[in-house]
Amino acid sequence: MKHIPSIQERSSQPLKLAALRQAHQDWNTTSDVLTRLTRRLATTLSLEEQLAILAEELNEIVPFGTMNYRHRIGYQDFVYATGMGGPHRCEYRLALEGVSYGTLVLQRRHRFTEQELEGIEILLGAAICPIRNACKYAAIEQASLTDSLTGVPNKRALDDALRQAGQLSERHGQPYSLILCDLDHFKSVNDTHGHVVGDHLLQVAATELERSVRTSDSVYRFGGEEFAILLPHTDDLAAREVAERIREAIATIRVDTGEKELQVTTSCGVATCLSGESTQAWVARADAALYQAKRHGRNCTRLFASIS
Ligand code: GH3
Ligand code: MG
Ligand code: MG
Repeated sequence: MKHIPSIQERSSQPLKLAALRQAHQDWNTTSDVLTRLTRRLATTLSLEEQLAILAEELNEIVPFGTMNYRHRIGYQDFVYATGMGGPHRCEYRLALEGVSYGTLVLQRRHRFTEQELEGIEILLGAAICPIRNACKYAAIEQASLTDSLTGVPNKRALDDALRQAGQLSERHGQPYSLILCDLDHFKSVNDTHGHVVGDHLLQVAATELERSVRTSDSVYRFGGEEFAILLPHTDDLAAREVAERIREAIATIRVDTGEKELQVTTSCGVATCLSGESTQAWVARADAALYQAKRHGRNCTRLFASIS
């Protein structure tokens, strides 16, 4: 049977506690680069913060001009770059158990010596597990903000973006507009052709929406057959033009169902963020404009300001 130390026995271990206290102090104050690097990396799950720490510690051992890191996480390219370049470079593919966790390139004006390369490899070896964890965390975070059917950002991502847009609009006095698009009579698509075709049409619609907007605008799946488009630095009239372009693009979609070609239309509601307005109120105005578009017979755009 396992011996469990009594309270008396345990209280006679002050030496071990003193050693632990000393080790803790050493661990926190050590000048040993590897200990410091791993300790610092363990303080964050942010890949960006980890790379900044790695760059700082690497630069102490092997001064370099730039550090570039690139990794595909989900559907996005994660890129981190710091410093000024140079003609000499060394490149490392970071991998653990056969899985890649990105490519790291160091550049500077003069050659890297063999000893320096060895030093870099030791530090990268110590950093790879925390970097793997940060990559996995970033992938999970991204998945939690992505709609699994269409691959576009989901309602949660929209809520974050709207909050940020409201603040930026307030701070810089720049207009931010929101378009809500709701596919027309979508229930009858499901009823007539089944959910598989309905799902496919939603995927095609999301792709078409992303194709119709500028790279600075973002498309979100707002709900079942509803999408939202957030347009930075865009006033209501410009946003209405974008909404019309989107509406026309959706109308060009053709899905082959084996019988006759399936088409779909969309109604759009547009609202521009007002000074001091809450995100809920902003969305409610875009939704009210969408409702007007539906009432007006669908396949059209309404701007909130033009309602009254
Ligand atoms: P309206 O023009 O008034 O918007 O009519 P509608 O039929 O589009 O609107 P309604 O709200 O009556 O129905 C929405 C339909 O969208 C019903 C629902 O089954 C369908 N839908 C929602 N989410 C999904 C999905 O993920 N996949 C599929 N296939 N259908 C969905
Ligand atoms: Mg709807
Ligand atoms: Mg609908």
